[in-house]
Amino acid sequence: MIIPNVNRFTDEQLKEVTDIVGAFGCRIQTIIGQERCIYAIIGDERDDDMVAKIEGLPYVNRVDRIQSPHKLMDSRGSLASHRVKVGGIPLGQELFVCAGPCTIDPKNPNLTIETAHAVKEAGAHVLRGGVWKPRTNPYSYQGDARALDILMEASRQTGLPVDTEVMDEEHLKLALDSGVNCLQVGARNALNYALLRQIGQAIAERETAVLLKRSLHMGPVQEFVSAAEYIVQLGNPNVLLCPRGTQPGLDGYRNHPDESIVPLLKERTWAPVVVDPSHSVGKAAYVPAAALAAIAYGADGLCIECNVAPAKGIGDDPKQAVTPEALKQIIAKAKALWSITRKP
Ligand code: PEP
Ligand code: MN
Repeated sequence: MIIPNVNRFTDEQLKEVTDIVGAFGCRIQTIIGQERCIYAIIGDERDDDMVAKIEGLPYVNRVDRIQSPHKLMDSRGSLASHRVKVGGIPLGQELFVCAGPCTIDPKNPNLTIETAHAVKEAGAHVLRGGVWKPRTNPYSYQGDARALDILMEASRQTGLPVDTEVMDEEHLKLALDSGVNCLQVGARNALNYALLRQIGQAIAERETAVLLKRSLHMGPVQEFVSAAEYIVQLGNPNVLLCPRGTQPGLDGYRNHPDESIVPLLKERTWAPVVVDPSHSVGKAAYVPAAALAAIAYGADGLCIECNVAPAKGIGDDPKQAVTPEALKQIIAKAKALWSITRKP
């Protein structure tokens, strides 16, 4: 729908607009109001190039799109009834919890193995653990492929599906070859469209899921949903959206908590939303409240950093990992809140 700056296009202006949309296979239908006219674009109005050309005209105020630019992720689209599963576990029916250490220490495999058993005992459905780490400081620990064996061993021992972050094609290949159930796209790579496409292609014929974090600097909801569309358009719709706080942070928190985005995401897309309160607030003491806020906002699940001995962990664990006992309490309260807020 074209909203002009003028009350009505002149014949020349109407011809110019008609020629632009015509080049994209569309036509214009004038809608005559009492004082002003607006102009409907009839046809597929999703092409950004077409919209940009029209919005660049001096006599056009804006173009309002009725059709969604993310047609597959759209809650009214053909995938609306799709149910995402991670390692066979369906999302949406009951509270979903992914938990585990931030970073798997290859020098201390027992810490991850013990934590895996403990998060299972606490009620988690999926074990998370970083093999390769996106570190702001290039001199910090960057990860180690040997940690992947520890993660898979923890999965074998507990029967839990596993989630780990991949940042390039080599990680992607190693993770898929090992049988990782859920590939994490971190906040730093959520706008790396080449990586999103590589992942989409690599999992097109598989059941592998993707946990897509919200970027630290992501603005509009559409930017997040469109990043997921990059993956889904290549054939695999098993995408989970994961808000994890944005920058600039709220003074005292690591990031600016963004669980309030959940209702907007749930309205615009069918994809499950799994909130990460750990990176959002960045301190173990604040994680329970942030986790419950996410459930109150309608999240389908939580992704929480947890360690049997946070102080012995590496990466974020000393600061933000909760203990298995705290995780157990979060899950119990989140389940209670879930049943109150989901009552018909
Ligand atoms: C993580 O999950 O440990 C992580 C690095 O998350 P994010 O990409 O959200 O910072
Ligand atoms: Mn972390």
